Amino acid sequence: MTTEPVPFLDLPGLARRDRAFIDGALARVVDSGWFVLGREVESFEKEFADWCGAPHCVAVGNGLDALILQFRASGLQPGDEVLVPSHTYIASVLGISEAGLKPVPVECNPATFSICPVAAEAAITPRTRALLVVHLYGRVAPMEPLEELCARRGLLLFEDCAQSHGAREPGPGQRRCGTIGLAAAFSFYPSKNLGALGDGGAVVTQDPKLAERLRALRNYGSPQKYHHPIRGVNSRLDEIQAAILRARLTLLDGDNLRRDQIAAQYRAEIQNPLIRNPEPGPPGTHVWHLYVIRVPSENHRTALARHLSEHGIQTVIHYPTAIHRQGAFAADWGGFPLPIAEDLAATVLSLPISPIQTDQETGRVIEAVQSFS
Ligand SMILES: *Cc1c(COP(=O)(O)O)cnc(C)c1O
Repeated sequence: MTTEPVPFLDLPGLARRDRAFIDGALARVVDSGWFVLGREVESFEKEFADWCGAPHCVAVGNGLDALILQFRASGLQPGDEVLVPSHTYIASVLGISEAGLKPVPVECNPATFSICPVAAEAAITPRTRALLVVHLYGRVAPMEPLEELCARRGLLLFEDCAQSHGAREPGPGQRRCGTIGLAAAFSFYPSKNLGALGDGGAVVTQDPKLAERLRALRNYGSPQKYHHPIRGVNSRLDEIQAAILRARLTLLDGDNLRRDQIAAQYRAEIQNPLIRNPEPGPPGTHVWHLYVIRVPSENHRTALARHLSEHGIQTVIHYPTAIHRQGAFAADWGGFPLPIAEDLAATVLSLPISPIQTDQETGRVIEAVQSFS
């Protein structure tokens, strides 16, 4: 019997798998002698925009900056309210607050982890100007009712695609997420479906004016050297990360397919009355950034995580504390009753999933989960 642990996400293994691509990318940039905002970034922007099916991509320093800058570029005014799911990574909410806007929490459908369109409509006030949808864990949110709501109530629609590179809408159009809202923020943090060897991010948009403002904002508000019509920041993807991302982009469809196979195997074989498997999106839509199961209570989760650890299976909780219970947002959000966010924070557990996870590892996870009682 093997006793090697099953890692939650084998980042060193992924870097080893991609070593030849990475070495080639590094050599190209070092030999070029050009390290910031050059040919690699320009090419990556074009290739990633094409892959998403959008006309414009502006690369930035990280996913949080992509969120902040897409809001700043959109013309929203300080204090405008933006609806955001109550259950997400805290960066979704910080992207709104750090752009000078007011994040307003909306509960999710606990079966899909997606923002609930009915709850979103109920949260609209006269100051609401926008909605940020998060395709959490790689599952595309229900875009049809959300687009309809935004159109009917005059809200701008933004996407947080940090966990959903390549996820698609169901149905004949099959648009990729990132091409549905006015603008979409992506992260290339190393653990994401498309990861750099450091920080990275991008905004994808249909709107040429918004793209132009983003290009200035990420570079000191400077559309042209030493001209600063607006105040910007320094948030640029560097050439080395862009070169690595270009290479990894060619592997992304295959990697997402592999994630889908692992998720299908988990779903078929995890049949334990204490475990609720995540609901898959329609075929071909879901990119399984994380495989998040639910258990009946926090005590069950503690016991399950311990049981899996004893069987050499690493797990992670995404996310253990609801955002309205975090010091950062307790004052602003503490008064909202958000029972679904609290319940999810207490009962979710993420199982290992990655494009280089072997069938044998997947089998060991399933066996360990099945033996929990
Ligand atoms: C990772 C993540 C971000 C932020 O990305 P960084 O590159 O780490 O700044 C934003 N939103 C969600 C949902 C994320 O998972």
